[in-house]
Amino acid sequence: MDQDKKGIVPIMIDAATKATIETHPVRRNISVLEGAGGNIAVLTGKDGQLLIDAGFTVSKPRLTEALNKLSSDPITQLINTHWHTDHTDGNAWVHDAGAAITAHTNTKKHLSTSTRVEGWQWTFPPAPAGALPTTTFDDEHRLRHNDTNIALKYYGPAHTDSDISVVFEEADVVDVGDTWWNGIYPFIDYSTGGSIDGMIRAVERNLSMIGDKTIVIPGHGPVGNRAGLLEFHEMLATIRKNVAELKKQGKSLDQAIAAKPTAKYDAKFGQFLITPEFFTTLVYSGV
Ligand SMILES: [Zn+2]
Repeated sequence: MDQDKKGIVPIMIDAATKATIETHPVRRNISVLEGAGGNIAVLTGKDGQLLIDAGFTVSKPRLTEALNKLSSDPITQLINTHWHTDHTDGNAWVHDAGAAITAHTNTKKHLSTSTRVEGWQWTFPPAPAGALPTTTFDDEHRLRHNDTNIALKYYGPAHTDSDISVVFEEADVVDVGDTWWNGIYPFIDYSTGGSIDGMIRAVERNLSMIGDKTIVIPGHGPVGNRAGLLEFHEMLATIRKNVAELKKQGKSLDQAIAAKPTAKYDAKFGQFLITPEFFTTLVYSGV
């Protein structure tokens, strides 16, 4: 394994190690915890806390403190939006704390084996047995927890090949995982089935399933709504078009990057992990 010490995975873990966990009330008994890697949604109530995603293991002490402030209920259910480490690394401790784990079949598949992510220059070893999903599904799955109907649905290949949406029906809140990075360029994992076109399709499905009052929880970035998703869609579609045009003209990747096909969006979307150059590279791979 030629793990790159300056790669994105160590940067993300380092950030989670230092971050304080911020708690954002969303609606009804739903909150979002930010700072543990990917966003973590929490549904509190008599059946115990239900978490969507588990963040990095290094965040356990600070997450535990934040969860205890939300309610004294034990954690009884965890849902993974997809297999990536910044959303599943904490699975083992959350499972040890008493949670069943529900996810798409491909999340279990990738966590069960050694998996390489070229875009991160990183190879993940198989996850410990306790981190593996205990319930998996292929297309749709429903749960009732804390008097809330929860609908899980597979996107098909999008950011990876394991992404699902999670709808809290009564609250009109949807967690779309890493099909949305609010206000920032997204990572796209071609090594496990993601693509720019899959991302765009997933965002279009998100737009088709939400209304003006729906609160949308992204995998990264602040909680948002339809307006933010529309802006994200426009950014993805425009950059895809720009990069496809450059590739069609015979431009190499370096030439395409030099042409700055993302320029219009860089000030807003290029301020996080995925730089304009890296995002151009990700789009170039898929057009
Ligand atoms: Zn991800």
